[in-house]
Parts: sequence; C-alpha cells; structure tokens
Amino acid sequence: MSTVPMNDLRRAFDADGDALRAATLEVLDGGWYVHGPQHAAFEQELAAFVGVEHAVGVASGTDGLELVLTALAARCRRRTVITAANAGGYTSVAACQSGLNLRFADVSPDTLCLDAGEVERLLDDDVVAVVLTHIYGRLGDVDSLAKLCAEAGVPLVEDCAQAVGAAHGKRRAGAFGAAGTFSFYPTKNLGALGDGGAVVTDDHELADSVRRLRQYGWSSKYKIGVPDGRNSRLDELQAAVLRVRLPRVTERNARRRDVIARYRAAGARSVQVLAAEGEHHVGHLAVAICRDREAAQTALAAAGVASEVHYPVPDHWQPAFVAQHDGRSLPVSEDAANRALSLPCFPEMTEHELDRVCAVLSTL
Ligand SMILES: *Cc1c(COP(=O)(O)O)cnc(C)c1O
Repeated sequence: MSTVPMNDLRRAFDADGDALRAATLEVLDGGWYVHGPQHAAFEQELAAFVGVEHAVGVASGTDGLELVLTALAARCRRRTVITAANAGGYTSVAACQSGLNLRFADVSPDTLCLDAGEVERLLDDDVVAVVLTHIYGRLGDVDSLAKLCAEAGVPLVEDCAQAVGAAHGKRRAGAFGAAGTFSFYPTKNLGALGDGGAVVTDDHELADSVRRLRQYGWSSKYKIGVPDGRNSRLDELQAAVLRVRLPRVTERNARRRDVIARYRAAGARSVQVLAAEGEHHVGHLAVAICRDREAAQTALAAAGVASEVHYPVPDHWQPAFVAQHDGRSLPVSEDAANRALSLPCFPEMTEHELDRVCAVLSTL
C-alpha cells in the first residue's frame, strides 16, 4: 500500500512542468545568474502582489528575518524582540543571529498567533520589534497588533513564510506591519526549487538597509557602507521559477482550503481539524488538535497516511533559547506543542488520497 505523503514536490513541478522548464532554460541560456532581470522582475511582481512598494529578494526566510531585525536594530538602541514560541523557532534563530534578545509572548487559542493582550503586557522601551508569525497559513490578529505596535512606536514584522496571499480586507500578509518576510523553501505555498526568501515593506529606508545588508553592506559596488552585512541573494533560477508560480498561488491556496474542508467534514471526534475558511487562511498546513496525539498518529500510520508535528518543542523550551526565557509558562503554546498534528495537505492530492485520509479521520 502506498503512503499518502505530507507533500509531493514532484507533482507540484509537473503541474507547471513546461513553463518551469522553459523559464529555467531561459536563465541558463541567458548567461546572467545572480541579480539579473528575473530577480528584478520578481521583486516588482511580489511587491505588487502583496500591495507594498518594495520587495527585496534574499536567500531564505530566516535570512529575511535576520536582515530586517538587524536593519531595525541599527535604527535604535533597543535589543529585545517579542515573538511567539510556537512557530518553529525561525524568528528566534534570526534574532540571536542579529545579536538581539528574545521575549516570548503566548498565542491566542483562537488563532495560535501572537495574542495582542499578551504582547501588550510585555512591551517596554527595550523592544526593537514584535514579530508576528501567521502560523499554518492563518493571518494573525493584524488589526489589534498593528494598532498596539503603532501606539507603542514599535515596528510590527510579519513572518509570512506560511501565509503568502492571506488577505484581510484589501490587504495581504506582509502589508499590515512595518515589514514582512517570506520564505520560498520548496514546501511553502509559494515554493522555489531550492532556497529563497524576501522582505517586503513600504519603508524606503528599511528596504535600502536590507538591500545593503544582503550584499556585504555595500552602499555601492565595493564600498562597504554599513557593518553587519552578509551575502544573502536570491538567484536568477529561483526568481524565474517563482515568477511562473506566483500567478497561480491564489488558486493553489484555495485548493489547500478545500483539502482542509474535506478533513473537517470527515467526522472525527477525538481530533479537531482547525478551520481554514476564507481569504485570511491559505491552508499551508492541515493541523488537527488531538486528544491523544500518539494514538492518532499510530492510526494514521497504520492506514498508510503520513503525519508530522509542527512543532514539537516550543522555543522557550529549546536548549538554544531556554536561558533567555524567564520561566513563565506559555500555556497555549505548550498545549499546541503537545497536541497539534499536521495531516497531508498539498494542492495536487488525488480524490483517492483524500478519501483515505478522511476514512481514518472518521474513526478517530
Ligand atoms: C519555513 C519558515 C521560515 C524559514 O524559512 P527558510 O527559508 O527555511 O529559512 C520562517 N518562518 C516560518 C513560519 C516558516 O515556516
């Protein structure tokens, strides 16, 4: 019996195979491989898609976070980043790389994204930025957090790695805060054929800072204007692939929501599949909150259905970060780490695969 996989990147490639082959061949034949015409065009197209002035290509989502935090910290003497502990640790890794301290706020039980009330209690005059991860593809409470941050004079950074295209009113993820970051890791909703990332913002100075930091700190060629620069570039091949895929991301996001709707309708009693309904959710992951996760995982595995935990260890318990945490418990984040289970979810899933997953869910 074949396994229903979490994802199948080969099928995603085949969905646009001809266009992807043509686009990559054009780059190979063109002889320009880094920061050329594909990259410039993709930056413009991504900015237009998000609805902001600037998109800056970088080498990964984590780099995007790190460069944005480095750029924001260079503007002030503040040293602390407030973020959630249930979001896979990417922001924490980036903040440490930027030489900043972490302060973890709990998430809301409704969204599993940062809770505005929790953030408010933790804000003080050492906070460089609040980083909101739109986890599992669901837009966080952007209205409350943007308002809170604006009143406190603290930039809100959105980690949109899982939420490309998630919309609220006329705006899309990445356009609510001072900046947004994206990852184009192959399994993301907008995935490259390798690593990639971007930073988006309406702030000209911030965009310029990130552009300098991504290329050695150069203010112009061979002139190193700012310290803390590095090499973090999005190459032409990845940019060309992303240009093929960006126009289809909205349709593929809808397909992911359909997959999740099927799972919710399957009638499981001991697991609750989180809703992904409406434009504010792009269905990056199909996550079930389980009464008994191990039992659910065992039943799925026995039926040949893959599953995975996003994420088993909250940041404040990670060996790398535990020393930075003051010991407060973060009950909602901890509960999610104990009970969340991700099910297969990708746009090219077959009816037969969906039926097989639903059949197991109906027994749980
Ligand atoms: C994948 C991911 C990242 C990191 O992106 P990379 O491109 O792998 O560095 C950051 N944040 C979230 C929420 C992610 O899912």
